[in-house]
Amino acid sequence: VSGSRPDLPDFLVIGGGIAGAAAGGFLARYGRVLLLEAELAPGMHATGRSAALFSEYYGNPVVRALTSASRAFYTVPPSGFEGVEPLRPRGSLVLACGTFGEPGPGGDGAADAAEDALFEQVLHEAPNAAVPAVEVDRDEALRLCPVLRPGAFRRAMFKPGAADVDVDVVHRHFLKVLRTAGGRVQVNARVRALRRTGGLWTAVTADGVYRAPIVVNAAGAWADEIAGLAGVEQVGLVARRRTLAVVPAPEGVDPRGWPMIGDLAEGFYAKPEAGGLLVSPCDATPLPPGDVRPDDTAVALGLDRLAAVTTLRPRRVSHRWAGLRSSAPDDVPVVGPAAADSGFFWLAGLGGYGIQTAPAVGRLLADLVAGVPPGPDLAALRPALDPARRREPTVRADG
Ligand SMILES: Cc1cc2nc3c(=O)[nH]c(=O)nc-3n(C[C@H](O)[C@H](O)[C@H](O)COP(=O)(O)OP(=O)(O)OC[C@H]3O[C@@H](n4cnc5c(N)ncnc54)[C@H](O)[C@@H]3O)c2cc1C
Repeated sequence: VSGSRPDLPDFLVIGGGIAGAAAGGFLARYGRVLLLEAELAPGMHATGRSAALFSEYYGNPVVRALTSASRAFYTVPPSGFEGVEPLRPRGSLVLACGTFGEPGPGGDGAADAAEDALFEQVLHEAPNAAVPAVEVDRDEALRLCPVLRPGAFRRAMFKPGAADVDVDVVHRHFLKVLRTAGGRVQVNARVRALRRTGGLWTAVTADGVYRAPIVVNAAGAWADEIAGLAGVEQVGLVARRRTLAVVPAPEGVDPRGWPMIGDLAEGFYAKPEAGGLLVSPCDATPLPPGDVRPDDTAVALGLDRLAAVTTLRPRRVSHRWAGLRSSAPDDVPVVGPAAADSGFFWLAGLGGYGIQTAPAVGRLLADLVAGVPPGPDLAALRPALDPARRREPTVRADG
């Protein structure tokens, strides 16, 4: 691809979160990248606000396949990580504990049967995971996380392969690869207009005008806005807020070796963080793209749910934040060209899984841009990820 116009970059990537960084890092194999990021630093939105978990059991089948396709990158990282491991073992303990606010576990036969069916489904739904999930008894669950209330759950499942991602290290790795190959990251460069003439895209920011034959739309929650600027049909992304709060561990309790804990119905999770616990009620309130703030009610709900399954009664929140998880209506990432020969590629809709899937989606995006056949682990996923499958036919903005 490289070298079509020596005075121009080959690829213009819009958005400097993990998606844009991964795209830029893999595209650097094929040509020169210019990444435009609206904020003063890349990674200030979803990427810098995540719970940083990698789990081959997390998400729908396409997401899980993308996560498994990212595993080799994370477990045997390419050169450039300089001895820093991108993943740290964590494990994840999933509790069958009914629905919060409903009768306690074991109180309703029909609900228990439905929960058992879901439990079995989740236990077996990731046959390609490197380390399989196993059911554990109450004693083992309590050994893994000693603050669990023994009466709060009926069954427990342990996923030993779940790991913490060092998001900052991975994000910086991709940006460094991009720069080392002669590319550039331009911050404080919000794209305000985008049009294509004579086979070249022109992106206009407050301070500059940038041109390249190929544009990659990795603008996270704003990706439909970018499509609108370009006159490309939108995919109907919805951004949903998720709130996180860190609570200190009680005196004398060290949670650092605990797994992440959560309920089977995905109404809550807690994970060791900074000597305390990171807690979320798994809220998913739709909001317009922006710098979202944590919601007090959601923080309180997270703490209530923590108290329902553990003996912990945190009285203080040391830190709280929120971020947007952006998804297409079918919750499947959007990766690929907007249309044949459009020079406009999507890398968006990564939902709550953008960290764990970034190596795979970045690699696939770069191969599609370069016209290189994707690897066998990704080729079969292409049709599901195709933007054309999700277009909203009614939307067309001015070009
Ligand atoms: C609370 C929370 C917990 C999560 N937990 C996990 C987890 O445990 N595991 C996991 O895998 N994923 C998790 N996620 C999801 C993950 O964080 C996202 O999927 C991922 O960060 C999305 O990356 P992105 O690059 O697409 O978006 P972003 O990181 O939001 O990046 C988009 C970038 O585009 C820029 N931009 C927007 N408009 C323009 C413009 N006009 N011009 C230039 N730049 C522009 C923005 O400034 C932004 O930097 C979580 C998300 C949240 C919010």
